[in-house]
Amino acid sequence: MSVKVRFAPSPTGYLHVGNARTAIITWLFCRNQGGHFLLRIDDTDTERSKEEYEIAIEDGLQWLGLSWDEKTNQKNRTDRYDEIIEQLKGDGRIYACYETPDELGLKRKSQLSRGLPPIYERPDEAQIQKYIEEGRQPHWRFALKKEPIHWQDLVRGEVNFHGKDLSDPVVIRENGIPLYHLCSVIDDVDYGITHVVRGEDHVSNTATHVQMFEAISGQAPQFAHLPLIADMEGGKLSKRLGSLSVKSVREEEMLEPMALVSLMARMGSSDPIEPFTSLEPLIDSFDFAKFSRNTPKFDMDELLRLNGKILHETSFETVQVRLANMGLQDLDEAFWTAVRGNLVRLEDIKDWWQVANGPVDPVIDDADFTAAAADLLPPAPWDETTFKTWTGAVKDQTGRKGKELFMPLRKALTGMDHGPELPALLPLLGPEKVKSRLTRKAA
Ligand code: GLU
Repeated sequence: MSVKVRFAPSPTGYLHVGNARTAIITWLFCRNQGGHFLLRIDDTDTERSKEEYEIAIEDGLQWLGLSWDEKTNQKNRTDRYDEIIEQLKGDGRIYACYETPDELGLKRKSQLSRGLPPIYERPDEAQIQKYIEEGRQPHWRFALKKEPIHWQDLVRGEVNFHGKDLSDPVVIRENGIPLYHLCSVIDDVDYGITHVVRGEDHVSNTATHVQMFEAISGQAPQFAHLPLIADMEGGKLSKRLGSLSVKSVREEEMLEPMALVSLMARMGSSDPIEPFTSLEPLIDSFDFAKFSRNTPKFDMDELLRLNGKILHETSFETVQVRLANMGLQDLDEAFWTAVRGNLVRLEDIKDWWQVANGPVDPVIDDADFTAAAADLLPPAPWDETTFKTWTGAVKDQTGRKGKELFMPLRKALTGMDHGPELPALLPLLGPEKVKSRLTRKAA
């Protein structure tokens, strides 16, 4: 059997990190299996769906390096949905309901107060006739069979439900628009989806979907439900992280796509989280069996750590255009190679560039000390070892060490008490600039 998967975002907002994780894992599984990846835009909700979001979702997926083999929009498939709906109505699996939300709420309350589970109860024929005579517009539910439902989940293992414990799901609204559940199942059948991968918030939906699959095609696909991501405190993703979109990871946090992919691909699995610069090793090592049911915690610090490590291995060619867009078109390969090992975010390079090129106002508290240090500068050419040689000589002559030794040099050379690593910075500045800054000349 060849594998066919889908990623099914609703274009009612930007792709957020939780959804991106589903996309990444679905994609890695698919490519590992040599499968076919369908991008399905769930846009039946015409009021909330926006083209702007659809475009942003596609941009986000492309930025992450996730390609799709086929794309479909649910809004273009309404004729097909109507066809299946007619068939299911004819089979008695979809039936009209007339209760208002208030009536349903009261029913629920009364069930709960009697210690009963709040499961939808179909009214009797007389009641239905009354509703029809009142001229009410129907909405429609899918009739669940009161029988056991089970599947072997690729992440959760054996999952069991019973139709008698579930409410018949509403599948068509009063305005005639079919809801996500039915459309999703019809698409999964028509597109021959073999594996449905999604968040565990869909587990009880899946129980009802299994019966829909059986009613429509006689057979359900396989399912993998991933635990939802939590924040470091273990609670549901906090507001800030929950709304962290791929767009903001890219444009505001200025992070590398492979940092997000590296974290999302391995979070909650038994494989170690490591910085990857390409998708191939993640594809090769992917296996649902490695994923646990525990809630993975999203750690921003870990994302930044991965980001730095990825930048340290990134070639100049890869970042050249982005650097130019940041106004650093004169920054060359030698500078990049000298500095990249000190970056956490790409934009950190701006500090380095500013300090290396000046103008910098040296901060000097003890002019005798910095002048003595200037006299001890080794002859060119300089490299990363020069700083050690130089400060060794300064230490021997002045008797200073540690912070006493390094901080005045840093402040003279950069005008700041923090910033780029001096051993890497020194050869970028070169003897002329270093000498003038140590002797209090702006350069
Ligand atoms: N549009 C649905 C969502 O974003 C799709 C869920 C599914 O994968 O079936 O939750």
